[in-house]
Amino acid sequence: MNIIMLGPPGSGKGTMAALLSKKLAIPQISTGDMLRAGMKEGTELGRMAKGFVDKGELVPDSVVIAMVEERLKAQDAQNGYILDGFPRTLEQAKALEGFTKIDTVLDLELADEKIIDRLSGRRVCPDCSRTYHVSQLNGSTICEKCRTKLVTRKDDEAETIANRLNVYHEQTEPLVEYYKEAKLLKNVKTDGSIEENFSEMLKVLGI
Ligand code: AMP
Repeated sequence: MNIIMLGPPGSGKGTMAALLSKKLAIPQISTGDMLRAGMKEGTELGRMAKGFVDKGELVPDSVVIAMVEERLKAQDAQNGYILDGFPRTLEQAKALEGFTKIDTVLDLELADEKIIDRLSGRRVCPDCSRTYHVSQLNGSTICEKCRTKLVTRKDDEAETIANRLNVYHEQTEPLVEYYKEAKLLKNVKTDGSIEENFSEMLKVLGI
């Protein structure tokens, strides 16, 4: 199954995609993680992307489209995949149709107030990308999986969060209508616990 995880930043795309990836044994392909890996390694792509990512702006379409097209050629993506954070513009959605066929688009729904709380309290492991919310850490600052010190993503700082929400509403939200018209859209409310949201998602997917 080829799945797109759509939804505003902080709606749980990464967390839900990771769980679904395990359940369906297909890869989670996160453009945000790919760009951050490039930034960490200091690759040409990473250096180019940094200015956009740190400010909460979108990286140019041509760059992310080429990156995803290449990634989808890999062996592990031949039996299905979950796109997490792509497409984010109509141009990306249209380009995607040129090199693959999408079966389902999951639209994760969460109100802006909840998004702000989630993103401002989000901590992430720089090694395995696992995310936590400060409220579940009980004062710990270490990733429980790989024992690395957790960090706050630069784009989770207050003023950048506001910008990312604006970018979402202006550039990405039109995709909800686009995929509704294509009869691919399925809505999933993600204002519950991780377990509740995931079981709702499985119900919506009929699995
Ligand atoms: P994410 O981890 O999905 O929240 O993505 C973090 C940042 O990476 C975004 O705010 C953008 O700067 C960049 N990014 C990720 N995916 C895309 C995309 N599909 N198009 C453009 N920029 C992207």
